[in-house]
Amino acid sequence: MTGLAGAERDLLAPVERAPILAHTLDWAAINSGTANVEGLAAMAARLADAFAALPGDLRLVDPAPVEKVDGQGQTREIVHGRHLVLSVRPEAERRVILTGHMDTVYPREHPFQTCDWLDEDTLHGPGTADMKGGLALMLAGLGAYERSGPKLGYDVLINSDEETGSLSSAALIAELARGKVAALTYEPALPGGQMARARPGSGNYAVVVHGRSAHAGRNPEDGRNAVVAASDLALRLAAMRRPGLSVNPAKIEGGAPNNTVPDLAILHFNMRPATPELAGEAQAYIETAVAEVSAAHDVHIHIHGHVSRPPKAISDKTEALYGLVSKAATDLGQPMSWKDTGGVCDGNNIAACGVPVLDTMGALGGSIHSPDEFLLAGSLDARARLTALVMHRLEHFQIG
Ligand SMILES: [Zn+2]
Repeated sequence: MTGLAGAERDLLAPVERAPILAHTLDWAAINSGTANVEGLAAMAARLADAFAALPGDLRLVDPAPVEKVDGQGQTREIVHGRHLVLSVRPEAERRVILTGHMDTVYPREHPFQTCDWLDEDTLHGPGTADMKGGLALMLAGLGAYERSGPKLGYDVLINSDEETGSLSSAALIAELARGKVAALTYEPALPGGQMARARPGSGNYAVVVHGRSAHAGRNPEDGRNAVVAASDLALRLAAMRRPGLSVNPAKIEGGAPNNTVPDLAILHFNMRPATPELAGEAQAYIETAVAEVSAAHDVHIHIHGHVSRPPKAISDKTEALYGLVSKAATDLGQPMSWKDTGGVCDGNNIAACGVPVLDTMGALGGSIHSPDEFLLAGSLDARARLTALVMHRLEHFQIG
């Protein structure tokens, strides 16, 4: 740690691995799949206890209502857990936002529910890297920063629905990001310390097609086949794919018995545009394709969904933040490398607010979203030191 000033060494001295690991193990033992509202409530309570060690006002915010199209083409509300918000020194001139999520991709019924050690540094367990380890090290890094005569103000947001697209927290993210000089998000970095740069956008859509039913043998000409129309639309959407724009028609629901022309189909698809321009072009293309298919098959079509994760581009402000974090990591003896990725996260939403964001500030680990998920325990205290040092240096650094 040769690049550190004396005050910075003092700042980092209290960070220890054991309490961070203890929090990680405790929190990973609680199932908090995005749909497990009881598990999320337990997790939120545990997090509220732990984050109460920091100064500021802590509150749990109700999720915004979110609708989903079901297999009958009807919209119904889906339940979500509450989101945790901690506001520290809101009156400060320079403020940052730190974000993480308490949910995981593993439902309550999933067989992967407990942790075990693969070797002395490798902890295998659900949500260890993504991102209970990240939440624990964020807390430790902030705890160290608070003992140093801190000047920055900050908001911590830990949402409960990141893994399904942050639909019930998107407005809260935008509200809290506003006016911040920088954002740190605690998604895991790759095992070698590789950090994410640009990310594409992502949108999930459900297209409900209403046709007209008729007897398949007696009067099929009176029917309007919704499954055929949905299939036509799926082919047109698939043809939209090109460099920088991926489109995945994923599922067609609905249909009818074999002797009936089906009057209902629901086409679900995901779209990932690399730039806002491609997102706009794709949206226009979707609307044209829907109009053409409606006319050609004489059916009614309703589109639900939008690009809920805007593409995350790299601005000059972002480069400045990356430079600061990179330098801090080098000074700590944890050199970083960088890579564009196809994944999306809350960093997309924050970047869309014009706030520079580094979204892989969390633990090192891998095989996330799979039963092989693991965390490198040595990264817990290393990354907590990085958080404390980055917060300290953000006090003086002018970003854009
Ligand atoms: Zn995550």
